[in-house]
Amino acid sequence: MEFFGIHSLRKTLAHWIPPGFRKISPVFDPSLAGRSGLVSESIHRSLKQGIHLPEHKDETCGLPIRQFPFTPLIILPMVQHAGVPSQIVVREGQEVERGQLLATAGGYLSVPQHAPVSGIVQKIGHVPTISGKMVQGIYLKTFPFSSQEVVEGKPIDAETATRAEILQSIQNAGIVGLGGAAFPTHAKLKIPAGKHCDVVILNGIECEPYLTTDHRVMLEQADDIMRGIRYLLKATDARQVIIAIGGNKPDAASHLATKIPNGEPVSIRMIPVKYPQGAEKMLVTALLGYEVPSGKLPIEVGAVVINVATAAEIGRLLPHGRGIQERVITITGPGVKKKGNYLMPIGTPLRFVLEQVGVEDNSSLVCMGGPMMGVAVSNLDISITKGTSGILVFTGNADNPADKIYPCIHCGACVAACPMSLDPAKLGILAKFAAYDDMAEKYNLMDCFECGACAYVCPSHIPLVHYFKLSKNRVKKRSMAKTMHDSSG
Ligand code: SF4
Ligand code: SF4
Repeated sequence: MEFFGIHSLRKTLAHWIPPGFRKISPVFDPSLAGRSGLVSESIHRSLKQGIHLPEHKDETCGLPIRQFPFTPLIILPMVQHAGVPSQIVVREGQEVERGQLLATAGGYLSVPQHAPVSGIVQKIGHVPTISGKMVQGIYLKTFPFSSQEVVEGKPIDAETATRAEILQSIQNAGIVGLGGAAFPTHAKLKIPAGKHCDVVILNGIECEPYLTTDHRVMLEQADDIMRGIRYLLKATDARQVIIAIGGNKPDAASHLATKIPNGEPVSIRMIPVKYPQGAEKMLVTALLGYEVPSGKLPIEVGAVVINVATAAEIGRLLPHGRGIQERVITITGPGVKKKGNYLMPIGTPLRFVLEQVGVEDNSSLVCMGGPMMGVAVSNLDISITKGTSGILVFTGNADNPADKIYPCIHCGACVAACPMSLDPAKLGILAKFAAYDDMAEKYNLMDCFECGACAYVCPSHIPLVHYFKLSKNRVKKRSMAKTMHDSSG
């Protein structure tokens, strides 16, 4: 048996059950031990490293999800998921109904796209994206007087459908991870040959400040989540599902606990609030007592992690054979006038969103996603994609003198904060010298998942995570170039 350094993890109270909760099985069933993991003496763990952040969730966590107005023009990039772009199957001038297929999956690691509104395809051409790149996309003009009813497809029954049929229907629905990564969900649920999935973990931690979409989804779409769980159990052949919820959402935990059908192998765990506890590997360690090996996925230790909103989407769409056309987004921050959680058509332009919610005159920064892992926006003509979990608007002086970068003082704060036990200070120095090979081979750069904890704590304001993003890109490009060179030789 292989050991992954579990002994080095600090024991903490990693979860607790609110009063009145149903009695549930122990968090960890030793018989469910992953093939390569380690059963530790205590599985009640939370993140050893990580940081405590101001939450800023109070202003939106109590606001119910509202339908966002339909924009006159949808802008739909064909690259809004990890993997191969979608392939357009409509033509300019064609009228489409809401939910109709607009683009097919471009390959296995890809998903189709469906019309977020009923309207007419105005133009097929290049559309802007948050990365700054222009990609192939569709401009769809909304019919102003349409009822915007969604077209029905072929329903998929969780009880009678085969595993393969469920996976195919998840891909057909265009479902990707709604937590932000936008990885095609069918590919994540496909268990590799030789592996077995013992437990599906539904991730309801939502540890990024400001964001409250998952919180509201758990409160308002609990039935969809429970239906989604049935599909997930069938698709993975897992023996149990654990819904992991951040300790700051006891109302969501209480509510979901009342929705678990009798006899379903579903339990709820609450985990103390710390950033980035919601990262997959952190969650697996907290719940199961395993460390996922470097460079590997949670399935190595018998787990698959799915965002709660993704599970809700599966439970909502598959019984109707529909495709995804909208998602829940938190819009908040000091610069937003009408803060809230909104159900918004995919492809709604950011400029339209900000016009509708209103922004303060001294707004200085718009961010898509949370403040830690989100991306600052430089073009308001980009649109909401399947991976957009939040829009934040900040006010004040964008050229804050406190942001001046100072030399490293070797305080070690970044090392203490890094949840992957990396050495961000050393990596930062190597990045300056473009020593990418050393960063990757000697200092495990590729284990960095860009959580930003190191940069947040750095008293010298060194933009470490920015360095690491660039460095990882360089390493990936070099590796691709080498592969192409080797295969051509
Ligand atoms: S951004 Fe990377 S190096 Fe920095 S704390 Fe997060 S995982 Fe560690
Ligand atoms: S936190 Fe900043 S100053 Fe401190 S060791 Fe890390 S890089 Fe250096």
